Amino acid sequence: MAQLHAMKLAQRVQVMKPSSTLAVTALVKKMTAEGHKVIGFGAGEPDFDTPQHIKDAVTEALSKGLTKYEPVNGTPAALKAVAQYMEPRLGRNLGPENVLISCGGKHSLYLAFMALVEPGDEVIIPAPYWVSYPEQARLCGATVVEVPGSVDNDFKITPEQLEKAITPRSKVLIINSPSNPNGTMYSPAELKALAEVVLRHPQLIVFADDIYERLVYGAEPFVSWSSLHPDLFERTVTFNCLSKSYAMTGWRVGFTVAEPKLIKAMAGLQGQMTSNITSFVYPAIVAALTGPQDEVEKMRQSFDQRGQLMHRLFSAIPGVKCCKPTGAFYVFPDISAHFGKTDPAGKKLETAADFAESLLSHAQVAVVPGEDFAGPNHVRASFATSNQNIEQGLEKLARFVEQLR
Ligand code: PMP
Ligand code: GLU
Repeated sequence: MAQLHAMKLAQRVQVMKPSSTLAVTALVKKMTAEGHKVIGFGAGEPDFDTPQHIKDAVTEALSKGLTKYEPVNGTPAALKAVAQYMEPRLGRNLGPENVLISCGGKHSLYLAFMALVEPGDEVIIPAPYWVSYPEQARLCGATVVEVPGSVDNDFKITPEQLEKAITPRSKVLIINSPSNPNGTMYSPAELKALAEVVLRHPQLIVFADDIYERLVYGAEPFVSWSSLHPDLFERTVTFNCLSKSYAMTGWRVGFTVAEPKLIKAMAGLQGQMTSNITSFVYPAIVAALTGPQDEVEKMRQSFDQRGQLMHRLFSAIPGVKCCKPTGAFYVFPDISAHFGKTDPAGKKLETAADFAESLLSHAQVAVVPGEDFAGPNHVRASFATSNQNIEQGLEKLARFVEQLR
């Protein structure tokens, strides 16, 4: 009998790291299903249910039999709803030719990378960053250039740092404000200062990942990158989605707004890869973006209050340094003061991954270690969970830290 050889995987997946945020989320779900009492701060998703009127739109669509292929970019009604939603944010008129609807913000970003980035290009990513940016950039053969923010400056990069990072091979700069995993955001003035640098380098395209735009808690308003200067729109790709604002992570709805030339190229890719998104979801996009927004505001207020609670409790733990959250639903505390200590099982904690693993096994609290976010001294905790979970989880975390020797 012929010898069976193991399948040889392509180089691109051999070098790619799987998503650690999804891994922690799945682990907590599995442990909970097995009967463990875990407090999960891992998942980057609202704990609220999707508003009823959005769900009703799908029930109605299904009963009408909207179950067939639709145009790759999206139905005319959904494209119009997205264009109208984004117009005031970008400060310009938009048509359906400016919009592509894809399977979540993650898919939108990947299509944009695929349509624009080639081997040898450099992608500038302010760090700490969301785990999928560098992996998607590398899948396109790009070199990732990290620009480190610091916890003392709410993880924001300066115009001087950006200027230094730009080379003739720089292709894309990612701006994610409010930010995952930092939970902070740039002020309009800080963004303008970065935009002045970008305007001096015409080869540079900005990916403006605006998916947390509705989750803002501080004094500074959200401002979308391309609205900062009339010349920026043609060099900006703006991403948004329903996942976070409307508690719709599992629905997989993301959208891209850009110049028609890029939208056409991305739609070409999508047409060969996944086609349209689930057809009966399109009416739900219209319902979400054009329907009542009061539940979005209620969720925002809850996140605001929970974020303040989590920040207060983290900051009270000795040796923990934590920025005040002003956007999204994460804190990214520096826990490195506890590196080198020994846990109750006698294991020395050398890294954030060690800390997170030991915290889960000794205190049943799940956080995401910072390594894959380029924040190796940090862990990420999501406050998209109840006050009770935040109080109990932080109490357990504080006790765990007390026990370290
Ligand atoms: N960008 C950022 C910064 C994120 O945190 C996420 C994770 N949800 C995404 C994009 C992708 O969102 P989606 O779930 O819509 O794919
Ligand atoms: N973006 C969320 C997070 O960071 C969801 C998981 C993912 O897509 O990475 O946790």
